[in-house]
Amino acid sequence: MKRIAILGSTGSIGVTTLRVVESHPERFSVLSLGAGRNIQLLAEQIACFRPKAVCVQDRQSARGLTEALPAGDRPKVLWGTEGFVEIATMEEVDTVVSAMSGAAGLIPTYEAVRASKEVALANKEAMVMAGHIIMEEARKHGVSVIPIDSEHSAVLQCLQGHKRGHVARIILTASGGPFHQLDAQNLNQVTPSEALAHPNWEMGPKVTIDSATLMNKGLEVIEARWLFDMPIEKIKILIHPQSIVHSMVEYRDGSIIAQMGIPDMTIPISYALSYPDHIENPLPPLDLTKVGPLTFQNPDFEKFRCLALALEAAKKGGSMPPVLNASNEVAVEAFLKGKIRFLDIPRIIHETMASHHQKAADTIEAILEVDAWARKKASSLIKQA
Ligand code: MG
Repeated sequence: MKRIAILGSTGSIGVTTLRVVESHPERFSVLSLGAGRNIQLLAEQIACFRPKAVCVQDRQSARGLTEALPAGDRPKVLWGTEGFVEIATMEEVDTVVSAMSGAAGLIPTYEAVRASKEVALANKEAMVMAGHIIMEEARKHGVSVIPIDSEHSAVLQCLQGHKRGHVARIILTASGGPFHQLDAQNLNQVTPSEALAHPNWEMGPKVTIDSATLMNKGLEVIEARWLFDMPIEKIKILIHPQSIVHSMVEYRDGSIIAQMGIPDMTIPISYALSYPDHIENPLPPLDLTKVGPLTFQNPDFEKFRCLALALEAAKKGGSMPPVLNASNEVAVEAFLKGKIRFLDIPRIIHETMASHHQKAADTIEAILEVDAWARKKASSLIKQA
């Protein structure tokens, strides 16, 4: 029996994770749940899964949740970063599902690894900010960081049974997002609701906007770089609008191994929880005779500047990836609130990166300092816009 802590239980990944847990009660149980401010859904999850401890974003939400739960029969209610760390590092926890959105997931994920917990990782921002530090800690403590991100789950599957030294390239596929076909000159007119309408995947708002700008694929290159210890030059991106091939690994003899499946996060989530086993899922099988032609093309770096900026930050390394990540989070939030336009997102990231004096970022403290600086800088650029 694997006892699980879920950070981000009311988000899209968290809800699907709970569905996987529910359909395999002989394999998984929920020990703790962490959420933001969605108290109503969290209270329902508590009634259903009976965790020992829960955590919410702030004191006010913790008070609201405590009032909403029946007295005498409630889990320990915690709040804030310390609370998330506590529920992730509880002694009985085997696996932590890291599915908070954005930089907020960094400290709890890092502390989970340091407490020798296996991590099922959906929070790619933590890897972009501090992948080198998290993977070093994972090696030190002998624990695995198993990807939930569908592309990285695909790569992990394509690596099984092959020698790591024989890998020539990792090929990450990208759907291209909702604006793949749109002319570049119309890109600045798109609205948040158009950007939130992803053609293939149902996901939270941050990652959906990142998919529309292709920043998501840039973040995933950095995530793959650390997860699989692969130099950036050996990670290639292909646009594949059908989202059937979730990624590939090319070997030195020319063989390419691909992983395919319907675009549903149930598959990578259940694989991350059951790795290296494959367990049953209540999904319709992929019918290759019905999906039509599968196509692949190179990404357009001119049209989707966020992707070029992410690769630039990845190559520069040091403090640049955390700057990229923080300025992107700030810009995406401003776009969702209607404060800036679509093409302001890459502009703000570019200007924040350009005014940053790059340095080493070898500790979590140094990364958090850079993160705070970049957020302030990006926010001031937005106010001027
Ligand atoms: Mg992905």
